[in-house]
Amino acid sequence: MEVLNLIQGKHVSAKGGEWLDIINPSEGKVYGRIPRSGAEDVSMAVESAEKAFKCWAATPISVRSKCLTRLADLVAQNADLLAKAESTDNGKPVSLANSVDIPRAESNLRFYSSAITHFASESHSMEGVAINYTLRKPLGVVACISPWNLPLYLFTWKIAPALAAGNCVVAKPSEITPVTAYLLSTWVKEAGFPDGVFNIIHGLGTEVGDALVRHPKVAAVSFTGGTATGAHIASVAAPKFKKLSLELGGKNAAVVFNDCDFEEALATTIRSSFANQGQICLCGSRILVERSLYPKFRDALVEKTRNMQVGDPQDPSTKMGALVSKDHRDKILSYIDIARQEGGKILCGGTATTPKNAPHLSNGYYVQPTIIEGLDFDSRVNMEEIFGPVVTIQPFESDEEAVEIANSTEFGLAATVWTKDLKRAHNVAAALETGIVWVNCWLLRDLRTPFGGVKNSGVGREGGFEALQFFTEPQNVCIKL
Ligand code: NDP
Repeated sequence: MEVLNLIQGKHVSAKGGEWLDIINPSEGKVYGRIPRSGAEDVSMAVESAEKAFKCWAATPISVRSKCLTRLADLVAQNADLLAKAESTDNGKPVSLANSVDIPRAESNLRFYSSAITHFASESHSMEGVAINYTLRKPLGVVACISPWNLPLYLFTWKIAPALAAGNCVVAKPSEITPVTAYLLSTWVKEAGFPDGVFNIIHGLGTEVGDALVRHPKVAAVSFTGGTATGAHIASVAAPKFKKLSLELGGKNAAVVFNDCDFEEALATTIRSSFANQGQICLCGSRILVERSLYPKFRDALVEKTRNMQVGDPQDPSTKMGALVSKDHRDKILSYIDIARQEGGKILCGGTATTPKNAPHLSNGYYVQPTIIEGLDFDSRVNMEEIFGPVVTIQPFESDEEAVEIANSTEFGLAATVWTKDLKRAHNVAAALETGIVWVNCWLLRDLRTPFGGVKNSGVGREGGFEALQFFTEPQNVCIKL
């Protein structure tokens, strides 16, 4: 597998001639390479985007919209290829890539292909004196930087609104999972995008990502990734007055009340804990259960979790695949050790493992789904993002205590609330310091809704018209009557 950059409509390697390995995490084996791009490659990509901007910004919305629709069609036509590639690159079960990642990537492109045709701006009348109207202008060259956990899903979530709004894009997928973005790049011309409108460069975040954020011609940075990286990017971009959208880490609580629908809360909590091996920013990693329900819920959760087996990600029946990298697996295992040191009791899992009867996967990166109890609410394991198949479970006494514990971390991305009491649901949801609250469900997404976090989980909102507002600059025009 050889991945190449897309610059000015051409597939090219890095100017410096260097390469980085791509590893299949289910086998722990190198299976390809990507260009190790640097500042020179970034400059070429930004220049090509800058050259294309005037024409793309003036291209009718209907034409920009059609390009996105055609790209969505190409994703749909190649869905199996993309799902297999995502599974190989990331270690996620191919069934998940087939049912979530790739359909959502297609939806992102279709959604913004349509949304831009409905995007309106405001007008403010000063009765008899003047009329104001707001123009929404594209920003110019924008950077889209995305992580490895939902590679094509989050990549398209950024580039689609940016392109729809008339910007030219230089996008950088995670160096750990670059393949589906590369495959997408091979269809950009066929979809009708003029050369230079959509550029993709590969390489290390600290090299090519950093150069992109620093480039003086990049007007805005849309970033999804870890909180520490987000803070670094903000420190570089803010003094240059670039527009910034930061979607960062989470430490989400699942709050389970005694009056919940038990079976539904249980089944969904299994999913919200371990989907994609717990590597979704929206996964609930702290399960808070009302004390009167605690033993029953904990025991049922542990029993179901014990039955979950890691398997070959490429096997369509596998529900738990590999972690994305050796480093990430080791980080997760180190948190399980910290939990032990902090006095936590490992109720199930707790160790690295490999799929049964699959010798070719014996060097892959797998961890058993793990549930830990007995930790203080402010222990490190309950405060820091682990981003793997590791959850804690703790009891609470009252609605107030549940909210207090849920809000006790520095993060504020999402929360899940399980109750049949409507009044309680409203009150608890409003009291939670998160950008998103799911009541009696999880990961139910309407792409029109604002998506993002508070506190250390980010700044700004994606989704719906919010993303189109981010990728445009409002200009007020006041006309005296
Ligand atoms: P990272 O922050 O390590 O990386 C994210 C992206 O930024 C990658 O493309 C990375 O490149 C790049 N990058 C790294 N360093 C820099 C830099 N100095 N300048 C510019 N770009 C840089 O996050 P992960 O990829 O490890 O993703 C996991 C994190 O993402 C978790 O914290 C998770 O919670 C968060 N996340 C948040 C979501 C949200 O919507 N709030 C959704 C999904 C994930 P490279 O990989 O090549 O180093």
